[in-house]
Amino acid sequence: MSNIVAIVGRPNVGKSTLFNRIIEQKKAIMDNVSGVTRDRHYGYGDWTGKYFTVIDTGGYVVGSEDIFEEAIREQVQIAMDEATVVVFVVDCITGLTGLDEDFANVLRRSKKPVVLVANKADTTDKMHAAAEFYALGLGDPYPISAENGNNTGDLMDAIVSHFEDEGVEDPEAGIPRVAILGRPNVGKSSFLNAILGRERSIVTDIAGTTRDAIHTRYSLYGNDFIITDTAGMRRKARVNDNIEFYSTLRSMRALDECDVAIIILDAERGLEAQDMNIIGMAHRAKKGIVLMINKWDLIEKDSKTAPAWEKELRQRLAPIDYAPIVFTSVVDKLRIFKVVEKVKEVYEERRRRIATSQLNDVILPEIEAYPPPAINGKYVKIKYLTQLPTPSPTFVLFCNYPQYIKESYERFLENKFRAHFGFEGVPLTMFFRKK
Ligand code: GDP
Ligand code: GDP
Repeated sequence: MSNIVAIVGRPNVGKSTLFNRIIEQKKAIMDNVSGVTRDRHYGYGDWTGKYFTVIDTGGYVVGSEDIFEEAIREQVQIAMDEATVVVFVVDCITGLTGLDEDFANVLRRSKKPVVLVANKADTTDKMHAAAEFYALGLGDPYPISAENGNNTGDLMDAIVSHFEDEGVEDPEAGIPRVAILGRPNVGKSSFLNAILGRERSIVTDIAGTTRDAIHTRYSLYGNDFIITDTAGMRRKARVNDNIEFYSTLRSMRALDECDVAIIILDAERGLEAQDMNIIGMAHRAKKGIVLMINKWDLIEKDSKTAPAWEKELRQRLAPIDYAPIVFTSVVDKLRIFKVVEKVKEVYEERRRRIATSQLNDVILPEIEAYPPPAINGKYVKIKYLTQLPTPSPTFVLFCNYPQYIKESYERFLENKFRAHFGFEGVPLTMFFRKK
């Protein structure tokens, strides 16, 4: 992606508050670039359709009072290296400080555009106080309140006016968002650590905020994923809280944001009611599903065990029997990357669009060969069908008596769709409309 906004400034001026305001709904993305020893505080923002990356350099540099100089040097260095626009934050409540001047001295020599932000201008009085920052020689200060949002729109206009290109592409578009779900103890954290190839605690530590879920951008063999990690939510739940409630809430939130859910089951316990609930939730939310039967190392087995399990699972899960099933052992690193591959496949299947002509050429003959049964002497005639441009595959079938289509006939159609077009791991939705 092209445009990068770096936020610099001495501690406590409100850099992280501004960072959070800029990324707003777009939750922070922690970018774990291998080879980078320090973790960066990255997020994505957009303003009037222009997408950009924001770096909170303050979150990046840990400085104590006596290493300010070093901290400034590092912050500014990051900004110089990476930014399209440097946002330099000062504080209207404390006013101009020597440290602000040190920052300004370095920034004035830089070739990057600098936007001077006089933060904590919560009231008109404070806005007037912003005038003293003209002394920094960095142009007009933008008086804003990161906390209540005052004037942040003008600031955003100023920031994007420095962008080199349009930056219209959503950097997250086309990157599968994945949620890892399952009852406690099935191996969710272990699995995440295994695919991330390091201890996840690093990620949760930097987050260190009140945010509920952490999105980790993760790259494997050139495939990018954004994985929602719900560990932070667990930490918030207190001992006395209803664990089941929190775990359901967690799953729902993670589901809400994902394209594909990896639902982990514990092989030793088999398919239980709680697992069915989670799978049902993913199905209703119309998300892609990959079932991972973990702790396979603990099962006594021969070559027939997995197929037999798979068959039984599908029978019990019907009609939600379309998900790929992978038998894994996280401790033995057995097939964990197979799960990742399946996620990618299911993601693609969910995005699949079938041209209307192909859909009618293939499905109408199936309907003709096995039409919906007549009800009260009325013959249901399905005339044509089309796929809607929705995130998960949805079809509209036009017919004379939509109210007479039975669920069993929908099942029949769904099987035909899957037989012809695949859609493995993807819930299909059908609407019958009068025509
Ligand atoms: P950072 O160290 O520069 O990242 O600063 P923080 O974002 O952590 O903010 C430092 C303190 O200033 C916190 O207590 C914030 O709540 C407060 N703060 C941030 N923005 C504003 C603002 O616009 N107005 C006021 N009054 N306080 C703010
Ligand atoms: P979570 O609560 O779903 O995140 O589960 P954890 O990842 O914390 O794992 C719970 C326990 O199961 C830990 O003791 C793990 O070591 C263990 N575990 C995870 N995966 C496997 C596996 O594939 N085989 C075996 N034998 N144990 C596993």
